[in-house]
Amino acid sequence: MKLNANFQNLEQSYLFVTIAQKVNAYTAAHPDNKLIRMGIGDVTLPLVPAVIEAMHKATDEMAKKETFRGYSPDSSGYPFLREAIAGYYGGFGVSVEPGEVFVGDGAKSDVGNIVDIFDNSNTILVPDPVYPVYVDTNIMAGRKIVYADANMENGFLPMPQEGQKADIIYICSPNNPTGAVYNYEQLKAWVDYALDQKAVILFDAAYECFVGEGLPRSIFAIPGAEKCAIEFGSLSKTAGFTGMRCGYTVIKKELQADGVPVSKLWERRQGSKFNGVSYVTQRAAEAVFSAEGQKQIQENIAYYKRNAAVMAQALTNKGVWFTGGANSPYLWFRCPEGMSGWDYFDYLLNEKEIVGTPGEGFGKNGAGCMRLTAFGDAEKTKEAMERLK
Ligand code: PLP
Repeated sequence: MKLNANFQNLEQSYLFVTIAQKVNAYTAAHPDNKLIRMGIGDVTLPLVPAVIEAMHKATDEMAKKETFRGYSPDSSGYPFLREAIAGYYGGFGVSVEPGEVFVGDGAKSDVGNIVDIFDNSNTILVPDPVYPVYVDTNIMAGRKIVYADANMENGFLPMPQEGQKADIIYICSPNNPTGAVYNYEQLKAWVDYALDQKAVILFDAAYECFVGEGLPRSIFAIPGAEKCAIEFGSLSKTAGFTGMRCGYTVIKKELQADGVPVSKLWERRQGSKFNGVSYVTQRAAEAVFSAEGQKQIQENIAYYKRNAAVMAQALTNKGVWFTGGANSPYLWFRCPEGMSGWDYFDYLLNEKEIVGTPGEGFGKNGAGCMRLTAFGDAEKTKEAMERLK
């Protein structure tokens, strides 16, 4: 037996482990601490009533012989949910058919597993800094990765470079970790580049619900994207499903390679390795897209956006250059006085009792930067910003 030697090439994922160790050491030494956690990107508000009600109803169905559901008839999702998601897209003017929606247990799995359908000879273009899943899953497969530099000069929104060859392009907008959001023109440039290269864009839209008027929420808002893009959606941040697990992948029928619809390979991959999301979760997800559910989740999203606005104002008042905050739950900024992200992390923890995430954890261009998240409690967020003054 031989192990996959590519795993030797993975960077140690010490980021959140190291943060946890440092935080645990601090809390042990300071039992009366007033720590405010703005590090990990998990939500804090509970599921909305429409979702809870749908789960109760679905649970009752599972309790009766006549309405009990076993394996889902289709690993791609029940028609009721695929239709609801297609309807959601229609609501912001993007045409998606239910058959182009593939329900999964979250964007992390889908973004990670999609690499199964592509040949290992493909060159992968990944922004730096980046959500580590894109890099790790391709390293595991032994693929060649090239990086698109995101930095202060390009507002942490790298654009296609003349002469750059790529077959698979990862884009995350609104971005984790930087919170930066591409506009229509910028995304069109990426779509044109992908069409020209005969490449595919893997578009991570996990944070689309934070996007306001005038900016694209979906790569499919760009004409031509149907022929060169796959989109990943998530209910995690949209509706507090981080512990529920539900997301979706959209592959338009126009996306083909050598006359083969790409969606057929994904359907086959999922059919072979995945047995679908639980019925109760799919009913809960359906409720997110109901009129009542949408109204309720918008209140939660508005709550996080108000936190982000408070944070953005505090940084603006300090004259700190940052990205994110307006259409994203993340704020990303350069640490003061040339400090490294880890030094500034230690300073915030020890002097201000605030936990952030050092940019070093997201790639070489993250060095000397810090990410703060707006998913916390409103009062604590205000208190943290007072402390930063
Ligand atoms: N994509 C990005 C960019 C993320 O930041 C996250 C979670 O933090 C995910 C995907 C994972 O989403 P899910 O909870 O649906 O797996």
